[in-house]
Amino acid sequence: MKQLEQKILEEGIVLNGNVLKVDSFLNHQVDPQLMLSIGQAFASFFEAEAITKVLTLESSGIAPAVMAALTMNVPLLFARKRKSLTLKDDLYTEKIYSFTKQEESEVTVSRKFMSAEDRVLIIDDFLANGDAALGLSRIVEQAGGTVAGIGIVIEKAFQPGREKLIELGYSVHSLARVASLADGKVTFAAEPVAQTSSKD
Ligand code: 5GP
Repeated sequence: MKQLEQKILEEGIVLNGNVLKVDSFLNHQVDPQLMLSIGQAFASFFEAEAITKVLTLESSGIAPAVMAALTMNVPLLFARKRKSLTLKDDLYTEKIYSFTKQEESEVTVSRKFMSAEDRVLIIDDFLANGDAALGLSRIVEQAGGTVAGIGIVIEKAFQPGREKLIELGYSVHSLARVASLADGKVTFAAEPVAQTSSKD
């Protein structure tokens, strides 16, 4: 997505440890017009998938995910990182290792909002090692639902997340694929032609 790549080149800051900071339009301040275009791009790519729900992880996934959900006219559900006061029996729970915080946290989704009938589009702001997307997919599977696709705003293609998800048979679509952050410079990779798993 050219508009997104342009924004990353103009405003993205490369931090140590292969982290890209995009807090002027995605991770802190949010550019709503860009988020709407991002949501529309996900909705268009996964149009044939009969999505019933969009699932993301609080907080940075919420802005792009709500725009995708709005465009597809389905609810957005975000997994919570904080412990809820609700009884554990009412929750799906997964441990997810955070790439940026370098610690494991427990994320929860209320059983009330996810069922075996759901065809879920998982959306996240970044894909690095795949832990966040894999944790969310385990929650969908706990509910007996189907992961109909995984939409990523910015994929760091030099990290192994995509391969792990494709290996498990998931359809992954990223709107910007960063090939390298070496020397403080962002370079992009092309979108891979094959989207399907080797197991298909
Ligand atoms: P993964 O779980 O795939 O290793 O990492 C994805 C998660 O870590 C995302 O939810 C995102 O919040 C965070 N993350 C990973 N890499 C980056 C990065 O380069 N920049 C920012 N801002 N967040 C990242």
